[in-house]
Amino acid sequence: MMLRSWDEGVWKWMLFLYNSGTDLNDTIANEGRPLLLTRPVITVGIVDALVGCADSVPLGNRLILVPDVVSLIVRLWVEDLEIPGRPNMVHNELTFVMYHIVNDSQNDSTFSTLVGAVNGAETVMRSATNRFRRLVSSTNSKEMESQLAFIDLLAENPMLRDAMHEVDALSVTLTAIDALTKQSNQIDACRALESCIDIMLLKHLLSGPNVKPLIHSINKGLLRTLYDARVAFGSNEECCEVLAEVIILVIGPSLIFRSVLHAVERAELKTGVFAAYRSAEHEFHEWETLTEVYQDMIQFKHEVDEELVHCGFLNCPTSDVRVKFHRCGRCQYKKYCSKECQQQDWPKHKRQCHKESANEITPVSDREFARDRAEFEVRMNIRSLFERVQKNPALQTTQDLMFQVDFTTLDRNISIGVAPFAPSPHEERRAAIYAKVQSGREAIQSLGLVTGWKELQRSSQPENILFPDKFRKLIIE
Ligand SMILES: [Zn+2]
Ligand SMILES: [Zn+2]
Repeated sequence: MMLRSWDEGVWKWMLFLYNSGTDLNDTIANEGRPLLLTRPVITVGIVDALVGCADSVPLGNRLILVPDVVSLIVRLWVEDLEIPGRPNMVHNELTFVMYHIVNDSQNDSTFSTLVGAVNGAETVMRSATNRFRRLVSSTNSKEMESQLAFIDLLAENPMLRDAMHEVDALSVTLTAIDALTKQSNQIDACRALESCIDIMLLKHLLSGPNVKPLIHSINKGLLRTLYDARVAFGSNEECCEVLAEVIILVIGPSLIFRSVLHAVERAELKTGVFAAYRSAEHEFHEWETLTEVYQDMIQFKHEVDEELVHCGFLNCPTSDVRVKFHRCGRCQYKKYCSKECQQQDWPKHKRQCHKESANEITPVSDREFARDRAEFEVRMNIRSLFERVQKNPALQTTQDLMFQVDFTTLDRNISIGVAPFAPSPHEERRAAIYAKVQSGREAIQSLGLVTGWKELQRSSQPENILFPDKFRKLIIE
């Protein structure tokens, strides 16, 4: 019966009502008399009807099939009209209908209708995020959680996921974690915190192909927020675990990038999180490791920054600060003071120049910093690496060796293998040093440089252990 009325055009009545409702201007139209069909009344009627439809499987499936109805729903949802006596009614009820549409729509056309009706993905995401913001300020943890589940569903669409950054869902999420930290003794707050981190931070906001979102979040106070939450939720195992994940899986491995390190350094000056951790009594394993790695990397950064850079052509005496040099366009690593020096050095450099893979995702300064650090790790461990090579019959060939420092975990293991490029039989055995880095939540890439294996050993003796650019001078000569 219901189905038949729907098919016979009940939905057309809905659209008609909505359209006339939008045209009605209450004060003019009623000419002083009470007007029954005000916009709130029409809206309540339509919303109730839509929720009823979404509640029924056959009717719900028909909802998606009529683009005009889909666009009506999203327009009403975004408009979020306040109904006297029923706060948030439109948004709450229609979120249920929207959930149904997004969850059940099998094709992209429903999505295009949905996004097109309100002029873009940003509007949809802004509406969802604003609702979340309101829930945060009223500290309604239970509803926060279900709103997060809805945002998660929306964000499965790449367009909407990208829009999350535009509407600054990150700030709202950090505010939410701060708010939840203040009510850490409540069970609902723990669960909402887990959702904030699992869904918003780990799955959407800190994922993606580069570290920009992470840097943005560090600038917005991510570290302080995580630390305060870790202290406040200290007795809740699940919360501690999910908080530690952000450190272990995202922040820690990203300290290999100069840009991230720089952001953390600035944040530390502002909020003193590491200082606070060190002076506190507690011991959190992930903060223990992060503090160590941070201090180590900051020291490295300062030493590298203070190094003079020498022109890559050895007969040239030019030494200066880094920025004035031009890089070899192929490896993006070696630096020269001029085109002439580069040309003169090419016959020698071409044997070691290693082309970058096509889809690089990090800026040159980050890549170079990571490679410098990888080289530093190899030099620091040169003796044990040499022994490992000696003991391994498979590596006792003339092939070029590869040393890969894994920066995607906080352990920094170095693996030894065969270099991933064609061996050069007429030359001395070479050593390729790779930094395996994680840029963003999942994107992994390898950044390499090549040098002579014998020279590497000779120049890595303890008395020579300095920092990268000084080494390089030693190696090539
Ligand atoms: Zn030069
Ligand atoms: Zn090169």
